Amino acid sequence: MRRHNWPDTGLSCSAVFCGENIPYAEEAYMLTVEVAAQTERGLVYTPIVATDQDYLYEPVFYCHDCWKSILEDLESFVADVPPVEDPYTIIKCHVCDSGIREGEVFGKLVEGEFRAADRTPGNKHSPTFVQLAPSPFIVCAPCINVIEHDVSEIWGEPLKQSNECTEGTYMRCWRYGCSADVSCHCISEDKK
Ligand SMILES: [Zn+2]
Ligand SMILES: [Zn+2]
Ligand SMILES: [Zn+2]
Ligand SMILES: [Zn+2]
Repeated sequence: MRRHNWPDTGLSCSAVFCGENIPYAEEAYMLTVEVAAQTERGLVYTPIVATDQDYLYEPVFYCHDCWKSILEDLESFVADVPPVEDPYTIIKCHVCDSGIREGEVFGKLVEGEFRAADRTPGNKHSPTFVQLAPSPFIVCAPCINVIEHDVSEIWGEPLKQSNECTEGTYMRCWRYGCSADVSCHCISEDKK
């Protein structure tokens, strides 16, 4: 690993097997939870924010190699699972190839690095993540929840579309209405 004299970013890798500080100017990945819309200007991504403009799901950071290793696990996890076809999708999950509809939450990973406002060592700067690779890597909610260990600790719960059950997220039950037929427990949970 390259070493710099710059101060720590104070931000660490969220991979459970790592947890190391991510240094400035080191290739890394930022994961945000967003929705997409098809507009006249093309595809527009919008991060999910709470009413006070804070992220509802805090951004998650990974070292370059840690994300690559998580991605390898993800890809082998979905290797034998056919993608969920859907006529209303506007983008596809880059892991499982399933469609994502407008307004459906997903994980967006961008490759980049942390930079300080200027690079004078010892000065106090808040680290800014600068995207370097042009196009984002899209991961649908069910795939994001395969890496649940990492993200649920930060977000407090798995990634959900609304308040559906875990199986519901996996089945994308909001598209069809919850029913026991799709092994969705939302209905019985609502009745509690
Ligand atoms: Zn790491
Ligand atoms: Zn997926
Ligand atoms: Zn449901
Ligand atoms: Zn359910």
